[in-house]
Amino acid sequence: MNETASLRARAEIDLAALRANVRALRERAAGAQLMAVVKSDGYGHGAVPCALAAREAGATWLGTATPHEALALRAAGLDGRIMCWLWTPGGPWREAIEADIDVSVSGLWALREIVAAGADRPARVQLKADTGLGRNGCQPADWPELVAEARAAERAGTIRITGLWSHFACADEPGHPSIAAQLSVFRDMVAYAEKEGVEPEVRHLANSPATLTLPEAHFDLVRTGIAIYGISPAPELGTPAELGLRPVMTLTAAVALVKEVPAGHGVSYGHHYATPAETTLGLIPVGYADGIPRHASGRGPVLVGGKVRTAAGRVAMDQFVVDLGGDRPEPGAEAVLFGPGDRGEPSVEDWAVAADTIGYEIVTRIGARVPRVYV
Ligand code: PLP
Repeated sequence: MNETASLRARAEIDLAALRANVRALRERAAGAQLMAVVKSDGYGHGAVPCALAAREAGATWLGTATPHEALALRAAGLDGRIMCWLWTPGGPWREAIEADIDVSVSGLWALREIVAAGADRPARVQLKADTGLGRNGCQPADWPELVAEARAAERAGTIRITGLWSHFACADEPGHPSIAAQLSVFRDMVAYAEKEGVEPEVRHLANSPATLTLPEAHFDLVRTGIAIYGISPAPELGTPAELGLRPVMTLTAAVALVKEVPAGHGVSYGHHYATPAETTLGLIPVGYADGIPRHASGRGPVLVGGKVRTAAGRVAMDQFVVDLGGDRPEPGAEAVLFGPGDRGEPSVEDWAVAADTIGYEIVTRIGARVPRVYV
């Protein structure tokens, strides 16, 4: 039985909020198209419903990491432009090309495998430059060779070069010197490719933080992930509300047990918490197998009965405990781990601080065992 009907836990996904975020980001990047990044199951929110909602709100592109993710969107009936960027050897490249998915190429290995895929149409290829991230992408020194071989394949009719693109290293740190350096290298690498005859449909560099803070990086298309889900890319950039974004996911669980314990009672594995006085403990039936970070043990916040409590002791695989300070909520009372904050509940950003991580990791790790309920 799937858990959709059970009261244990659920992640409510507010698709109206997602649509509002996409519209707000399109306004910020007026003049550029918007790609909704829905990799990793829509950052844990559900790729297909989020992709459909993003399309409704005007996202002309969808972005994924793997070709499998892109093919799953096509299989679900999503048409229009889809790009995947994580080339790996032996991937389903022929299927991706025949499903009109734009594929990214960072070097000759990838280009040659795409050319040899034997698809029934030219592959839509986007050439990725490493302008300074130091991860995927073609080094400036290798760019002339890649551009030359891609142009030759284009002239032979096996590929069509649809895009030139790159990715920032530090866009979430406004003023970081690498930002201006990457912009300059990107302009040079684009100019070189265009001089060699490449006529890209889109040139793109901006992720969410750059979309929010760097108009000069918008070019023809912005690739927004975290911001469409209403999560701030970094505390320095502001809260979602300050950025004009509405959080999309609300994670709730039903309090599964309330019991009285005496002072000095050890709580959860390792007894890292002991009750300071006689009190009540509440059992929250989600744990690290559901994506609740064990690293937030003793710190993770949760709203129960109108008050924010913190995880007392260790977060276990399927459950953790809060000290309710003598309160006695009814069995099944709602515990809100995070949400938009309307009821005073914590935010994804609060959990990121508690777990010493980023909001991206909090939502993408919410496990498959937690049903997504679309509202
Ligand atoms: N572009 C690429 C290549 C990415 O890998 C990602 C996500 O990591 C994004 C865009 C979206 O980034 P963000 O979620 O910060 O908008």
